[in-house]
Amino acid sequence: MERLKTKIRDIPDFPKPGILFKDITPLVRDPASLRLAVHQLLHPFLGQDITAVGGMEARGFIFGALVAWELGVGFIPLRKPGKLPHDVQSISYHLEYGSASLEAHTDSLGPGDNVLLVDDLLATGGTAKASCDLVESLGATIAACAFVIELDFLKGREKLSNYTIHSLLHY
Ligand code: AMP
Repeated sequence: MERLKTKIRDIPDFPKPGILFKDITPLVRDPASLRLAVHQLLHPFLGQDITAVGGMEARGFIFGALVAWELGVGFIPLRKPGKLPHDVQSISYHLEYGSASLEAHTDSLGPGDNVLLVDDLLATGGTAKASCDLVESLGATIAACAFVIELDFLKGREKLSNYTIHSLLHY
């Protein structure tokens, strides 16, 4: 895991003052680190009955699609509003300032699906909680949520107390 931490680049004051942005692009640029991260993300869930992987736009697409490929299941993009072309289910959630929404195609999941959610980073947990709610609103269940990075001091895990959380790197 220390190898992976060397591939996370800290960018101060991005995208706005006071935010220390954790940039995963050096990690995904390095083949060995990318492979290690993907395998560590999915390892606890091997042998579990996961039917699909959901990934949050945009960096959740990178890791989520690779985890889905390795598990041999399909991938569901959870997208920002207005991006998906077919009938969508939407969920709105509060951010520190203002609100945001995520959408999924209504026919992408249903009862009988057991979904592993994947994103690059767990901060306050708002995005992940909304994603869980969105998946459940389509009748599916959440197997677990997996993150490359968890910012422990923001206590996002507390918002997700009903779910299994798996994070590779803690700050
Ligand atoms: P939150 O909803 O507060 O848990 O924020 C998680 C989402 O915002 C994830 O999709 C992350 O990609 C992004 N994010 C939040 N904080 C950071 C950060 N410090 N560095 C990089 N991405 C972040």
